[in-house]
This record gives sequence, C-alpha cells and structure tokens, in this order.
Amino acid sequence: MKKKVFIIDTSAILSGKPIMITDAKIVTTPGVSDEFNPGGRDFRTFELLKETGLTIQIPSKEAINAVKQTAQQTGDDRRLSIADIEIVALALDINKNPDQEATILSDDYSIQNVASTLNIKYQGFLQKEITKKFKWVSRCPGCGKQFNEIKKICPICGTATKNSLSQKKNL
Ligand SMILES: [Zn+2]
Repeated sequence: MKKKVFIIDTSAILSGKPIMITDAKIVTTPGVSDEFNPGGRDFRTFELLKETGLTIQIPSKEAINAVKQTAQQTGDDRRLSIADIEIVALALDINKNPDQEATILSDDYSIQNVASTLNIKYQGFLQKEITKKFKWVSRCPGCGKQFNEIKKICPICGTATKNSLSQKKNL
C-alpha cells in the first residue's frame, strides 16, 4: 500500500479544523511557511503543527512549471498565489514516488480545480470524515478565559483571542 502524504495549504491551517495525522505524513511548502510571520497571529499555530510532525518540502521547478501551465489552461492562473502553485507542484513531485500518494487538503476552489485536472487527489477541509486528532483552543489574553473552539473575539471581554492547537490525549 502506498504511504499517504497530506499536503496542507494556508487556508487549511487557518481554518481551525482538526487535521488528521493518523498513519500519514503531513507536508507543506516554503511559500505557505512564509505566510506565517514570527509575531503574527497564527505563527504559534504553525509552530505547533511543525512540532507535531508537519514538515516543509520544496517542490521542483519542473513541477511548478507544469502546474503554471495547467492553471493557464483551466483559467485559474490569476487566482493562484505562489504558495498555491507550490502546493499542487509538491503533490506532483510526491506522486512521482511509486510508494507515496499525495492528497491536497484545501478548500480553495482553484487549487482543487487544477489538482483535479492533474489527477491529484484533494479533500475539502470542511468535510467531516477528517478525524479529530487535534483540537483548537482559543485563549483570551484579556480575561484569561479558555474556549474549546475557535473564537476571534472573546465574548466576555471583547479582546482579540489567541488560537492554538492542542493534541488530544486519549486516542
Ligand atoms: Zn476575555
């Protein structure tokens, strides 16, 4: 059986949805990594994902060019960022390995469309079959309250919260 490799994009990381890592490798690209700046709001979330197994891989130039070409054909080229193109290109590279099969986790329609054209598997991030291994928590730096779901603003005191991933203990 092929080893499953999940490629996650920025929207997947920011969605606050649980990410399935059971028996699978999770990767992303330098372009996605660049969207999480130190000191930025979601930097810690990204760091936590790296601590729990997310790795960063650089797609080949050849694959990037192939994705750009396909995106031009499908009309998605103007809607794809460099990070988006890298995500699809990385899937192409991974699928060249006979032991591995890439699945892109993204809710971005243009990424899904280009992936589909290139016969790359993808999964929308809002789908329910993604099992819960991590849960997202929000903490309010104002009043100190913790919420077991993502909240942008603390409903108690109105301060902007900080979100982070915490690993579920009993699996
Ligand atoms: Zn508060």
